[in-house]
Amino acid sequence: MKALFAKAAARLFLACAILPLAAACMTVPGTGRSQLNFVNQAALNQEAAAAYREITAPGKLSTNRRDAELIKKVGARIARASELLLAEYGQADEIAGFNWEFNLIESDDVNAFCLPGGKVAFYTGIMGICHDEEGIATVMGHEVAHVIAQHGAERASQGQMAQIGGFILGTALGGGGMSSTTADLVMQAYGLGAQIGVLLPFSRAHESEADRIGLSLMALAGYDPDKAIQFWDRMSADSGGSNDALNFLSTHPTDSQRIKNITAYIPEAKTRAETNHIAPVKENQLVTTPAKADPAKGARDGSSS
Ligand SMILES: [Zn+2]
Repeated sequence: MKALFAKAAARLFLACAILPLAAACMTVPGTGRSQLNFVNQAALNQEAAAAYREITAPGKLSTNRRDAELIKKVGARIARASELLLAEYGQADEIAGFNWEFNLIESDDVNAFCLPGGKVAFYTGIMGICHDEEGIATVMGHEVAHVIAQHGAERASQGQMAQIGGFILGTALGGGGMSSTTADLVMQAYGLGAQIGVLLPFSRAHESEADRIGLSLMALAGYDPDKAIQFWDRMSADSGGSNDALNFLSTHPTDSQRIKNITAYIPEAKTRAETNHIAPVKENQLVTTPAKADPAKGARDGSSS
């Protein structure tokens, strides 16, 4: 196992040293970690936009206009927060070409995702657990963090290194094209796995990093990052619920270690908000999508009498 790691590290070093690409080794905004990334971002954004158009086709969106507007309101704030965070790392260009979209999809699945290029979707099934704007901001901050930290692209790059020894990267490096395998891998990583039949959870390290960056995005968007703890507590309480919840919960286990990590990164998020003179959001609007009926406990949260 150690030898394997040593080999991988040597390859990473080689790739970073010899590949004539500024993009091959990137710094993750919000944490400063170095990552390997060969994926052609512009091509990936195009693939993502096409997938997103299918998922948000007419008839699939929620008719709850109020909650749909709430997703767009929080989304606009998180998008602005992403610009601020990336500017701190001199990486504003990374999302300059994003065409952000925020939609609410009618589905009992407890899920939400952000695709490369800034395509965000929430399912109505997660809205009850979000409860309010701050809950939405917690989830949105986390999902957008996976994208601006390019976790899917990083994993696909690592996969390519492992598979082909780092020699033939043409498909991912090509000017406009990208192998569909690479694109599929990245899409699955961002939560579209359920559509394709396989879900690729992010590694624990990526989850933890998304939590950390997500808190900063939340704070830079004017929300109180302390409220993230309450969201994950609600998520944890829901984990005894129906199978619909398994998608999100299996990839986002809320154990005490996770809560501890989140707690540790809250001060950093608050400092960022202060440095950027962020005014707090005045009104924390409540979600109106009724909480899902839980067969074990009956309807929750007074969604029905
Ligand atoms: Zn995640």
